[in-house]
Amino acid sequence: MSFLLPKANGKQLRLGIMGGTFDPIHMGHLVTAEEACQQFNLNNVIFMPSGEPPHKDKRQVTAAEHRYIMTMLAVVANPCFTISRMEIESERTSYTVDTVRRFCDLYGSNLELFFITGADAILDITTWKNYEEILERCSFIATSRPGYSLQKLREVLGSAFAAVMQHIHLLEVPAMAISSTEIRRRVAAGKTIRYLTPRPVEQYIYKNQLYR
Ligand code: NAP
Repeated sequence: MSFLLPKANGKQLRLGIMGGTFDPIHMGHLVTAEEACQQFNLNNVIFMPSGEPPHKDKRQVTAAEHRYIMTMLAVVANPCFTISRMEIESERTSYTVDTVRRFCDLYGSNLELFFITGADAILDITTWKNYEEILERCSFIATSRPGYSLQKLREVLGSAFAAVMQHIHLLEVPAMAISSTEIRRRVAAGKTIRYLTPRPVEQYIYKNQLYR
């Protein structure tokens, strides 16, 4: 099943791409997307599960189709959220620059684009393929967990790459204390994950014996 991307119909659109592995998606991601949507006045947030994450060993990551279905189950009820198969269907490694280019081509000058992802993931942005082009084409919303020092991100990126920081907005989200890693560990240890992820995602994990 695939979902339609929002239509511009000649109007200006502010879209957020929520990029991540989503292995699995959890309440922290959903609260983050909702918060970003409201604070940055976005028309829609498009969840974009990574296909082959550029910097990860393929064997460590659950099959893309499972991650896509879990994400779809989590976002389907929110009218401002949608999901895209763009990266999981890509036959090549999914680089953010390719995704951003495709959105710019699809919407042209009607688009103001934001890429939402974890502050940790953005720490090494200067190693991403064509990062300067990505920063020219979109702004980043870097989300962090409580206790994570946004100052750290400013220092690491700001000192060496002050220009980069102009395109990065920081968003602290308490619910990001939940992590995919912790959910995988809890499932493996037979501990409950109730309320950490939406119920249909929890049921999907058990039904398909993921993270055992
Ligand atoms: P990751 O290493 O799995 O995650 C890093 C941290 O960020 C984790 O703490 C993770 O928490 C959190 N996180 C990930 N996505 C998030 C989101 N959308 N909202 C809030 N927190 C999030 O990072 P990743 O998922 O592989 O990569 C993140 C995005 O950056 C992906 O879209 C990826 O394609 C892109 N990326 C692109 C390049 C490139 O183009 N060269 C390189 C690296 C990353 P959880 O584990 O709880 O999610």
